[in-house]
Amino acid sequence: MSRPLHVALAGNPNSGKTTLFNNITGAHQHVGNYPGVTVEKREGRCRYADRDVLVVDLPGTYALTAYSAEELVARQFLLEEKPDVVVDVIDASNPERSLYLAVQIIELKIPLVLAFNMADVAAARGLTFDTHLLSRLFGAPIVSTVGNKGQGTDALLEAARLVADGQFDSPAPEIRYGPEIEAELERLAQSVAQAAIQGDREARWVALKLLENDEAVRVTAPAALLAQADAAAARLRSVLGDSPEVLIGDRRYGFISGACQEAVRSSVEARHTMSDKIDAVLTHRILGLPIFLALMYLLFTVTFKLGNIPVGWLESLFAHFSDAVSSLWPAGSESMVRALLVEGVIGGVGGVLKFVPNILILFLGIALLEDTGYMARAAFIVDHLMHKIGLHGKSFIPMLIGFGCSVPAIMATRTLETRRDRLTTMLVIPLLSCGARLPIYMLLVPAFFPTAWQGPVLFSLYLIGIVLAVGGAKLLRATIFRGEPEPFVMELPPYRMPTARALGIHMWQRAWMYLCKAGTMLLAASVVLWAMTAFPRKPHYDRDYAGEIARVQASLAASTQPAQAAQHETALADLRQARASEDLAYSLSGRIGQAMAPAIKPLGFDWKIGTALVGALAAKEVFVSQLSIVYAVGHADESPERLGQRLRLEYSPLQAYCIMLFCLISTPCVATMAVVRRESGAWRWMFLQIGALTGAAYGLTLLVFQVGRFFTGTP
Ligand code: GDP
Ligand code: MG
Repeated sequence: MSRPLHVALAGNPNSGKTTLFNNITGAHQHVGNYPGVTVEKREGRCRYADRDVLVVDLPGTYALTAYSAEELVARQFLLEEKPDVVVDVIDASNPERSLYLAVQIIELKIPLVLAFNMADVAAARGLTFDTHLLSRLFGAPIVSTVGNKGQGTDALLEAARLVADGQFDSPAPEIRYGPEIEAELERLAQSVAQAAIQGDREARWVALKLLENDEAVRVTAPAALLAQADAAAARLRSVLGDSPEVLIGDRRYGFISGACQEAVRSSVEARHTMSDKIDAVLTHRILGLPIFLALMYLLFTVTFKLGNIPVGWLESLFAHFSDAVSSLWPAGSESMVRALLVEGVIGGVGGVLKFVPNILILFLGIALLEDTGYMARAAFIVDHLMHKIGLHGKSFIPMLIGFGCSVPAIMATRTLETRRDRLTTMLVIPLLSCGARLPIYMLLVPAFFPTAWQGPVLFSLYLIGIVLAVGGAKLLRATIFRGEPEPFVMELPPYRMPTARALGIHMWQRAWMYLCKAGTMLLAASVVLWAMTAFPRKPHYDRDYAGEIARVQASLAASTQPAQAAQHETALADLRQARASEDLAYSLSGRIGQAMAPAIKPLGFDWKIGTALVGALAAKEVFVSQLSIVYAVGHADESPERLGQRLRLEYSPLQAYCIMLFCLISTPCVATMAVVRRESGAWRWMFLQIGALTGAAYGLTLLVFQVGRFFTGTP
C-alpha cells in the first residue's frame, strides 16, 4: 500500500473550494478549527486509483502575505505540513486576479495543480483558454471544473496524482523582478543562507519576503539581516520611486497579465485600468508594430540630429587639445613621442570619445522605453514574429540590448530557459548593430550622403542587421537547434512614470561600459595599432623627399605672392602625403592590409580599409580611430582636415555603404568573442559565429558592391 496522497485546496474566497472539496470527499469530512485562531479547518478523505487521498480545504485568501489570519494559516499550512500537491482553485471567470495566489504558490516551489473552476461562468462571459499553453507557462496541469455540477472532479484527482508522483514535466516558471531587485535579492539571499534561518525554505524566497516587508518572516530574522533588508528596500525605493512591495506585486501581475494576453481570449473586451487603455493602443494587433517601428525610427533620428551638436563641440575640443600637445615640440619636428601622443592616443581615443553624446542619447532613449514599461510590450508585440523565427519572445530583450552592446546582451540571454534558445540568440546578437558601430556610421553617413538620405541610410543598416539576425535564427532553429519553441510568457507590468534617477543610472551603466572600453581596450588598441602603422620604418625612399621638401620650403619662404605661396603649400602637402603613403605601405599594418587587398578588392575596399578592418577586430569603433590614424599620417603639421572630407576624396558613397555593411556583419569584436566563448561554454560556437558572420559579410558586401557598381557605373 502506498501512503496517502496529501492534497490541499487553496484559492480566493468564493472561488468554489468548498464545493470542490465536497465533490471530492463526499460525506467523509471533518470540520474543526486551526489551533489558536477562529479559522475553520476542513479535512476529508476519499479513495482514488487504489490510493487513500487526504484533502484539506484551506481558508480562502488572495495572497500569501501575513496580513490576515486566513493568509497566515494557509501559508503556515503550506510551509509546515508540506502537502504533496496544492490544488489552487481559480475563478476562471476572473483569471487575472485569481492567478496571483498561484504565482505565490509557485514561488514556494510546492507542486501545483490549477483548477479552472466556474468554467461555466467563464464560458458565458465569452472567455476561452489555451489551457495547454497556460499549463506550460505556469508549470502546472490545468483542469477545467464546474463545481456546482460536479464536473471535472476525477480529472482533478488524476492531475493531483500525476503531479504528486512527479510525472508532470513542465518546469515551474521563475518570476524575475528586474535587474535592481534581482541584484538586491541575490545579495540578501546570500546573507539569508549564511544566517541559516527559516529551516529548509529557499534563501531566495526568504529574501523576497524580507524585501516585501513580511512580518512573519521578519520576526525570524536576526537584526543584522533585517538592517540589510531595510537598507536594500530603501535603495530600491530611492532608485525606482516605489516600495519593493509594490514593485514586486507589479511584476507578479505583469507575469500573469502577459500569460493571459497570450492564452486567454475574450469575445467581449473589458478594459479597465489606465495601463489597459494604453495597451489597447500600443499593443494593438495592427497598430502595435508600426508604432514600435516609428518609435525606433524616432529614437535613431534624435540620436543623430540632437547628438551631433555636442559631437561638434567635442571635436573642436580634441582638435585644440592635440594642437596644444603638438606645440610642445618645435614646428616641423619629427618626434615619435609626439606622433604617438597626437596620432595614437589623442587621435585614436578622441575619435571614439566624441561620440559619447550620441551614445548617451541612444541609451537614455532605451532606458526610457525600458523604465516606462514599454519595452516589455515591445517584446510582446514582436512575440508573434519571434515565434515565427522559432525564438522565444523573451529573446527579444537580449536582442534589444544588443543594439547597445553585444556583451551585456549575450549575458542577458541567461534569462532564456533552454540552451537551444540561448545559443541561437547569442549567435545572432552581433548582427544587431551595437553602439560601437555607431561611430563608423556617424563618420561615413554624414560625409557621403545628403542630409535627406542620412536617416534612411542609417535605418537601412539597422534593418539589414535585423533581417539577417532573424534569418540566421530561423536557419539555426531549422538545422542545428531544431525543436519546438518554449511557450512565451512576457511580463506586462503596469506602465509607470520612470524616476529621473533610475533613468540616469540605466543610461549611465551602459555608457560607462562604452567609456571603459575607450579608456582601456581602445587606448591599448589605438597605441598598438598606431605602432603597427608607424613600424617598421622605411630605411630609405626611392625619391629624395627630404631634399624636395627642403627646396619647396625654401621657395615658400621666398615667395611674396599669395597665389604662389598657396601653390607651394599644396606641393608641400602632396610631398608629405606621398611620403606618408610610402611609410604606411611599408609598415606592418600596411603590409597586412596589402596582403588582404586582393581578397577585399571585389568588395570595393583598398588596402587602407583592410588595415582599418584589422583594427576593428579589437573593437568595432577602432575602425574609426584606425582610419583617422591612417589618414592623419603626414598631416600633423597642417590644420587637421576633417576625416570625413578626406575620405570623400578617396571613396564613392557606394564604397562607404559597403564599408558600413561589412563592419555591421563581419566578425564581432574580441570582447564579444570572449563572452560568447564563456557563455556558450565551448570554443566551437565562437568559431562558428566568427566564420559564419565573416562569410556572410563577404558574400553580401560583394553582392551589394558589384550590383551597385553595375547600376551606378562607378569604377
Ligand atoms: P469557497 O469560498 O471557495 O469555499 O467557495 P464555495 O465552494 O463556498 O462556492 C461559492 C459559490 O460558488 C457557491 O454558491 C457555489 O455553489 C458556487 N460555485 C462553485 N463552483 C461553481 C462553478 O463551477 N460554477 C458556478 N456557476 N458556481 C459555482
Ligand atoms: Mg469555503
